[in-house]
Amino acid sequence: MTRLTVMGDQSVIVSVASATATHGGAVHGVYFRDELAALGIGERERRLMVQTGELTVPRKDWYAAATCSPKVKEAVKAGGVLACVSALSYYGFWVPPGYRDLHVRSARGKSKTSCRGYSPKAAGRTAVDPVTTALECAARCMTEEDWIAVCDSVQNTMNLSAEALRGEMGSLPKYVEAMFGKTDARTQSGTESVSRVRLRGCGYKVVVQPEIAEVGRADLRVGRLVIECDGRQYHSSAEEFQNDRTRDRKAAVGGWIVFRLTYDDVLFGWDEVLQDIRAITQKDRHRPRRPRTKSGR
Ligand SMILES: [Zn+2]
Repeated sequence: MTRLTVMGDQSVIVSVASATATHGGAVHGVYFRDELAALGIGERERRLMVQTGELTVPRKDWYAAATCSPKVKEAVKAGGVLACVSALSYYGFWVPPGYRDLHVRSARGKSKTSCRGYSPKAAGRTAVDPVTTALECAARCMTEEDWIAVCDSVQNTMNLSAEALRGEMGSLPKYVEAMFGKTDARTQSGTESVSRVRLRGCGYKVVVQPEIAEVGRADLRVGRLVIECDGRQYHSSAEEFQNDRTRDRKAAVGGWIVFRLTYDDVLFGWDEVLQDIRAITQKDRHRPRRPRTKSGR
């Protein structure tokens, strides 16, 4: 009997097409009937596998392996496919907190609770929407700054420019096009994305991934203020801990002020962070007296 192999969720995504293909069936373990046929499992064998409990049937014509992703199975059982914010999170992109757990795109597209994109695309016959469809839906379900952060994460992880990613998607409303214009593939963490978008929204001139003399690349720079953003799962090794302290020391020698922002600072304590950034910038201490970096953008 054919055994279905389900790998963990941590597969490497190298392109939009391969992300779709990889996650189309073999990884999450939930298959449309035709996908099983493509794997060489015909009707007879399929029935046998259902009888023996190797496959369950969350919805007509959909089959789930015993070791499938429960969330994907739940989406299929709910009448659609895993979509939108949930699909992006499932693919391992950075997704900010505060969104409901299960975003489903309904097969009929008319359900009130169904997520939907901008093109009248029926839910596909793969149990998880492709990255581009998920981004389209998420533009409706997420706030602007959150969507930009996820889009940054997609671009950075998949090594795609905003233009390349945009090219993979259909026609979009103007406001989504404008959001694309605010994304940045160089951004290395969600907290960095959110900080950048908010600071620019306040009128600050923010340099992304600035080169700081004697220090190297930092996350963000506003005048003389260098901002380092830590991700949620940031647990530094002894080596990283030492490296961060050396960088801070070198930056101080160069006349830079360094802020290290944590996930909680950015997501839950932003008002205070902004107050502190304003305190520095209002004193006009943030402007370098002379250019210290090559990238004085
Ligand atoms: Zn949604």
